[in-house]
Amino acid sequence: KPTVAIVGKPNVGKSTIFNRIAGARISIVEDTPGVTRDRIYAPAEWLGVNFNLIDTGGIELSDAPFMKQITAQAEIAIDEADVIILIVDGKQGVTDADEQVAHLLYRSDTPVVVAVNKIDNFESRTNAYDFYALGLGDPYPISGAHGLGLGDLLDAVIRNFPEVPDDAPDNSLRFSLIGRPNVGKSSLVNAMLGDQRVIVSQVAGTTRDAIDTKFVADQQLFTIVDTAGIRKRGKVYEKTEKYSVMRAMKAIEDSSVVLVVLNAEEGIREQDKRVAGYAHDAGKGIIIVVNKWDTVKKDNHTQQQFEALIRSEFQYLAYAPIIFVSAKTKQRLGQLPSLIKQINNNHTKRIQSSHLNEIIMDAIGMTPTPTIKTRKLRIYYVTQVATAPPTIVLFVNEPELLHFSYRRYLENQIRKQIDFTGTPLRLIARKRK
Ligand code: GDP
Repeated sequence: KPTVAIVGKPNVGKSTIFNRIAGARISIVEDTPGVTRDRIYAPAEWLGVNFNLIDTGGIELSDAPFMKQITAQAEIAIDEADVIILIVDGKQGVTDADEQVAHLLYRSDTPVVVAVNKIDNFESRTNAYDFYALGLGDPYPISGAHGLGLGDLLDAVIRNFPEVPDDAPDNSLRFSLIGRPNVGKSSLVNAMLGDQRVIVSQVAGTTRDAIDTKFVADQQLFTIVDTAGIRKRGKVYEKTEKYSVMRAMKAIEDSSVVLVVLNAEEGIREQDKRVAGYAHDAGKGIIIVVNKWDTVKKDNHTQQQFEALIRSEFQYLAYAPIIFVSAKTKQRLGQLPSLIKQINNNHTKRIQSSHLNEIIMDAIGMTPTPTIKTRKLRIYYVTQVATAPPTIVLFVNEPELLHFSYRRYLENQIRKQIDFTGTPLRLIARKRK
């Protein structure tokens, strides 16, 4: 999927426009009890073309002066995006900061579309012409507040998407490693690849520095998504939390299975939970990988205790298996490919309706459906409507009556009968017509 980045000075309306473009898509995403999406990265769509949207304004360097701040944001856009939307303020006119950012963008070969915001009525449209001075082509007048002009802007954006050559589709299993800096992602990749014959492929089309690495194990072709992002080091903004979160979100979108890497030496941090939350919300297969297990002094209970800690800190990931490894000693790394394969199978599993209905009817037999204010929930029929993640629709009398605890009960009953280890399950109640 192509990536579009929004850049511009503070207060030009970047996040309003980000929300306008991404908004429609986000509101239809099923409510899951994970973590709310960070509003700097979101999937979006225009005329049937899907892309990912970044608001670089949300990635801040702490205490950096104004110009350094927006320069870093422009650099992120150049590094990450296929098309950049430069937003300027039509009420303010062209400023020095606009010119400096434009100059930076001008030197990169990423296409830029200039959006002149705050053009709230027809008369002020002429203000937009001043921005021809930036030398970045036609300025598009828009109003984020009123949602005007966005269609023309997005037409221009998707016109600039790179032609994606028909890459011979391989049926490789795509997975990514996500986690805070220094948990050992890059060491794990190297150790896993070890003596494998690696097939490195520069993915054509979208973002230039996304390098995916392919290898074969367990009679399966695997692709490690974005090994470039994992290995990259050096630029100032790469150390910021938001940037690494954004990178992780990109990798998650592009994978079937996500390895959430934790550092046994340091324990669990807030950022670990947030990043894992995105993988859960995105409905991916998930494995929790506890790395640096070699550094921990162990007795008979250490592993159990660590497991209990993970279960209490990541309650929404109760379905994810946990594996304790060491990139340094290679402990248990050999088990990873088959585990990833197994989780992917569960994630794409299809269950016959007859089997599902049996499970649900038995479950109702053991614990009857709840009655709320004299109205009793009735479940007539269930069927799986999608995979990856498995999505099950329950046809009921009144969807509001399926509350959280009974939904969880049904999910647990399904999981008792069918191995869905490592994959979230979506249970959706629909009114039977
Ligand atoms: P990344 O930022 O997540 O890619 O982390 P790196 O792979 O760069 O690892 C960060 C540091 O942890 C490096 O100094 C590694 O040598 C070290 N490291 C990684 N994995 C292990 C491990 O399993 N055991 C030990 N003792 N050190 C590790």
